[in-house]
Amino acid sequence: MTEVGVIGGGIAGLTAAIALVKQGYDVTLIHAGIKNTNSYLAQAGIALPILEGDSPNAHVLDTIRAGRYLNDEETVWNVISKSSEAYTFLTSLGLKFEENEVEGGHSFPRVFTIKNETGKPMTKILYVRAKELGVNFVQGIAEALAVRDKKAYGIFLDGELMKFDGTILASGGYTALFKYTAGSELNLGTLIGDAIMKGAPARDLEFVQFHPTGFAGKNGVKLVSEAVRGAGAKLVTEDGERFVNELEPRDVVARAIYRQLQSGKRVFLDATGIDDFKGRFPQIYAFLKKEGINPERDLIPVFPIAHYSIGGVSVDLWYRTPIRNLYAIGEAASNGFHGANRLASNSLLECVISGLEVVRTICRDRPRIRETPELRYSDNELGDIESLRELLWGYAGIVRDGASLEEGLRKLDGIEVDERLKILAMGVLKNALIRKESRGAHFRRDYPYMRKEFERPLFWTGF
Ligand SMILES: Cc1cc2nc3c(=O)[nH]c(=O)nc-3n(C[C@H](O)[C@H](O)[C@H](O)COP(=O)(O)OP(=O)(O)OC[C@H]3O[C@@H](n4cnc5c(N)ncnc54)[C@H](O)[C@@H]3O)c2cc1C
Repeated sequence: MTEVGVIGGGIAGLTAAIALVKQGYDVTLIHAGIKNTNSYLAQAGIALPILEGDSPNAHVLDTIRAGRYLNDEETVWNVISKSSEAYTFLTSLGLKFEENEVEGGHSFPRVFTIKNETGKPMTKILYVRAKELGVNFVQGIAEALAVRDKKAYGIFLDGELMKFDGTILASGGYTALFKYTAGSELNLGTLIGDAIMKGAPARDLEFVQFHPTGFAGKNGVKLVSEAVRGAGAKLVTEDGERFVNELEPRDVVARAIYRQLQSGKRVFLDATGIDDFKGRFPQIYAFLKKEGINPERDLIPVFPIAHYSIGGVSVDLWYRTPIRNLYAIGEAASNGFHGANRLASNSLLECVISGLEVVRTICRDRPRIRETPELRYSDNELGDIESLRELLWGYAGIVRDGASLEEGLRKLDGIEVDERLKILAMGVLKNALIRKESRGAHFRRDYPYMRKEFERPLFWTGF
């Protein structure tokens, strides 16, 4: 029987695992804890243009407008036109959506949500069904991809080779490479760096989406969903002044907050005017209460945080990497779906569709490992990750410029950290330096406009 290894227990990995066992594959899923995924944390929901009055065409246009015309149109159509398949897949597993909401950039209330904590029930149900169907779950961290001469043979776990005919990278993005993120701290992108070093280039690494309304308290960094602003919450400075239209795209709002913070002012979200905050946003209410903030009465201090990595391992329309038998899906992958900026709630859609689509690809490709060559494994120390996180936050953050990106690259040299993370961080800085324009999530104060000559993706091979 063909054996497939899936790395990562988020929505992308779980979807692929379920679809694979249904096709008769022997599936092993290596995960670092289902609750340690960004999927589990997803709040608002999944964008599906399937209600009466909506259309894939409208959703495609919204996606490309948000992506500032850098999207790969074929990919956008490929993903969005399969939305009804995503809906059927999820509901046939027993998932029940509650409402449809509109989020920034969407021209229709097409975001399917469950109590504004959509990721939690979605991840749980996928996990339970995958177990029932016989997916073999192995808890642990895959240390490295087993690759030789651009052919994948599986992964290394605890220093031992786990051999797979096909290997699917579903290990999430690299937002934890930035100092502040509400996502899982495990999402460093180590295996993205590993893939780059072993012959699979990355794409669009400079595009990191910053969410405007992060919150940092004694229990860590959390996210106050855009839906709270959608429900009428206002952004104010410590002087009570409003300074931005709260419903502008995320990058615009994030930069407006950043400017206030740079000028020395604190910024707050005023949600006191929202009726029944507790009932509408139970998860957000609960974590704020634990921090001593009652959002129905108090102002919420906020600041922008790293939220979503648009870049990832470059894959084709069918989620193949240039390494034979290695595939990548979800936030770990990049094929131009999001362009320069992700439209809200489009990533869960991408996770489900890429998870379903990659299985069709594997059914066609029929990956097979007959003989295993000698494969080398070297134990990598994580190293000084905190300095790396500080560096990217400071030099490749919300507002960038050529001089500071160059300085960031110089300083990167002196940081002692896993070389795969260094290669990945270098790709973020170098791509940001090459992209002498501002587009979507990438803002350069020395080139504050979009420039036609940069209407193309940038790839990073590690050199
Ligand atoms: C707070 C928050 C709210 C969000 N809300 C929404 C939303 O409402 N709608 C939306 O569309 N998107 C949302 N997003 C984005 C979305 O949740 C993610 O893009 C998506 O869930 C990514 O899924 P994934 O399966 O690709 O990766 P993940 O869910 O991140 O799962 C990958 C897993 O693999 C693990 N892993 C990494 N390396 C290894 C390794 N070497 N070995 C084993 N495991 C490994 C990671 O730790 C992680 O647990 C949100 C993100 C955050 C952080």
